[in-house]
Amino acid sequence: RPRVLSGIQPTAGSFHLGNYLGAVRQWVALQETHDAFYMVVDLHAITIPQDPAELRANTRLAAAQLLAAGLDPERCTLFVQSHVPEHAQLAWIMNCLTGFGEASRMTQFKDKSAKQGADRASVGLFTYPILQVADILLYQANEVPVGEDQRQHIELTRDLAERFNGRFGATFTVPKPYILKETAKIYDLQDPAIKMSKSASTPKGLINLLDEPKATAKKVKSAVTDTDTVIRYDAENKPGVSNLLTIYSTLTGTGIAELEQKYDGKGYGALKTDLAEVMVEFVTPFRERTQQYLDDPETLDSILAKGAEKARAVAAETLSQAYDKVGFLPAK
Ligand code: ATP
Ligand code: MG
Repeated sequence: RPRVLSGIQPTAGSFHLGNYLGAVRQWVALQETHDAFYMVVDLHAITIPQDPAELRANTRLAAAQLLAAGLDPERCTLFVQSHVPEHAQLAWIMNCLTGFGEASRMTQFKDKSAKQGADRASVGLFTYPILQVADILLYQANEVPVGEDQRQHIELTRDLAERFNGRFGATFTVPKPYILKETAKIYDLQDPAIKMSKSASTPKGLINLLDEPKATAKKVKSAVTDTDTVIRYDAENKPGVSNLLTIYSTLTGTGIAELEQKYDGKGYGALKTDLAEVMVEFVTPFRERTQQYLDDPETLDSILAKGAEKARAVAAETLSQAYDKVGFLPAK
């Protein structure tokens, strides 16, 4: 079985619709066909200041949501990044292989540091993509299921894997991004020019899966569309409507063309009312299942402990090969 690896940050509590449609939904599907490793990336979370108690709670909350979304610990390896120390260890080696200019070209750092104020941004935020390189290479992943915003980081991962292999001999699998075209980028409901994001969206533009279903329905109904009334998929000229059609189509398994036909001549109100209902039907059981996992933290922690053990077996093997190739003296 080919291997996949991906991660999600335990920031902001709830996952949003972009996280689910762009990434987590694919994770659930891939556990059937791939040897799948999924993690809650708490090391990445602290690149931005976090309250310790909140970080701990959000880490459990992220794991609970992943299980609620359909990850099955019998069919995939689910773990917390900080439980596997090899991530930080391999990241150091990767830091030393990355050019300063090369790291400076990462657009996500530019966006996120600009928002914080350039001198407030941590060095950790700057090297975040290099930690991500280590995350992926440790598991010899063939594919990395992510949203479009991560494409540049997967490119960097490929470059560094090839660089290491070229310099020290074949060690790492060179991974490919696994990005589904239809859901690669879910847009902010109020500003369809930007991606829906934990850190960049306004509350009205962001669908948090754990919000009150009624609040979610309201956000869908007040989504920005455009001034004509035609329901047609046209990402360039009708980004708001197209985004709603994408969401509707993915959550219900109905083709876009079929939706266009169904709403022909009906106007945006009808589309939004129905989509609001679809959303409520999706988030209501999701919230309940998440709460069930949170109500039983012992079971949750034991799932994560087992996951960490499985992950560590793979990560330790890869790290020891990398240490040896680099020329570190083995500890006796
Ligand atoms: P931040 O804005 O703080 O980076 P985020 O909203 O991007 O947060 P992450 O935890 O960084 O959330 O991303 C988790 C996964 O969700 C990644 O694979 C990312 O590509 C994907 N993702 C995030 N936002 C979207 C979106 N709007 N559309 C599709 N995929 C997305
Ligand atoms: Mg992100």
